[in-house]
Amino acid sequence: MTGRVVIVGGGVAGVGTAASLRAGGFDGDLTLVDAGEFPYDRPPLSKEFLAGSKALERIALQPPQWYDDQRVRLVNRTTVTALRPGEGAVELADGTLLPADRVVLATGGSAARPPIPGADSARVHVLRTADDADRLRKALVPGARLLVVGAGLIGAEAASTAVRLGCEVVLVDPVAAPLTAALGPELAGWLHGLHTRHGVETAQAAVESFTDRPDGIEARFAAGTPPRVFDAVLLGVGMVAHTELARAAGLEVDRGIVVDPGQVTSNPHVLAVGDPARTRADGVLLPRTEHWEAAQHDAARAAATLLGTPPPAPTAPWFWTDRHGRHVEAVGHLPEAAETVGRGSFDDRAFSVFGLRDGHVVAAAAVDDPQAVRAARRLIDRRVPVDAARLADPSVNPRALLRG
Ligand SMILES: Cc1cc2nc3c(=O)[nH]c(=O)nc-3n(C[C@H](O)[C@H](O)[C@H](O)COP(=O)(O)OP(=O)(O)OC[C@H]3O[C@@H](n4cnc5c(N)ncnc54)[C@H](O)[C@@H]3O)c2cc1C
Repeated sequence: MTGRVVIVGGGVAGVGTAASLRAGGFDGDLTLVDAGEFPYDRPPLSKEFLAGSKALERIALQPPQWYDDQRVRLVNRTTVTALRPGEGAVELADGTLLPADRVVLATGGSAARPPIPGADSARVHVLRTADDADRLRKALVPGARLLVVGAGLIGAEAASTAVRLGCEVVLVDPVAAPLTAALGPELAGWLHGLHTRHGVETAQAAVESFTDRPDGIEARFAAGTPPRVFDAVLLGVGMVAHTELARAAGLEVDRGIVVDPGQVTSNPHVLAVGDPARTRADGVLLPRTEHWEAAQHDAARAAATLLGTPPPAPTAPWFWTDRHGRHVEAVGHLPEAAETVGRGSFDDRAFSVFGLRDGHVVAAAAVDDPQAVRAARRLIDRRVPVDAARLADPSVNPRALLRG
């Protein structure tokens, strides 16, 4: 295929689309527009980058030379402000028009800032960009009192990083054990309990307001939790998808940019990938996925659509999270499971939980056992029948189960 493709957004989905297009033989003009200095990866922002052990250059999605080698024109430090599909162009912030036969929206999202009174204080942080992480790191001096609101993925990881940097961390969430839907109640409860075992104070509470005071920022909570004063606050309460460009161009938007299973929006010249894309399959709108690997898979599918090649085979959804030195991975859809089978115990260095239905694995989650999750993914994708007793036996190599 030839022609001119403009990709809007240089996150993992945008850069992944460019890489997949070239790998698939796309020979036309390829332009990647990104608001940042250069495309970088986001998962380290709550981990090594926040801890200060990896600089921005070390989390670049591709080395600088890659763009030349792959003939990807990188237009950075600017934004696309309008799509002009009818004119075959996109408009940049300075009014320049970039010709585009096809546009791929890979615009990601912003950290959510719920309308909590006082949340506009300079002491209240969010974590989505490298600038956010730089600002937050400056506040994470030893002894600093940090309140983290939201104990899902980003809040929990940032709390773990902050306590290692010597901060006094309080982590609040209205939910007793976040991630229960993905990990099951036992593993989610154990994982949340890890915070306390590593010196993070946890509380089941919802913040109602913040007030700046000379000695810090006071957080008030819903009934039952007394107010407390902190030096800094991190809101880790989710993201808001960037759908403005799509909406203004008249594309279908419904809590995400609606795409078909080939990532095509309601305009056949415009595709969308990554965090803001929401797939409609068989007439059903699926929830958006906000995970790194899902963005990569969107990118591969979008490239296949543009190239007219078969899409990659679907695979069970997967994500990881790292906290307090433990590596957690989960695959599949645990709520679909009729029963769960544990492998190893919470006292072991590595352990896993498998969700089963009708003699097949439908989900798995593991702590420090990526091999088990990799095997589970194959069991799910290939629909291999399994024996629950062998699955539960830590002496059986999970890969052996693939033989049925
Ligand atoms: C702190 C943090 C930790 C995470 N940790 C994990 C993890 O451990 N495991 C996991 O599975 N997932 C994790 N994630 C989620 C994962 O990083 C995201 O799902 C992934 O980054 C989504 O990629 P994306 O390309 O869709 O969007 P983004 O990474 O948000 O990239 C979008 C890009 O588009 C640019 N842009 C937006 N609008 C415009 C415009 N109009 N013009 C030009 N450029 C524009 C933005 O500047 C941005 O660079 C984490 C996310 C964060 C923020």
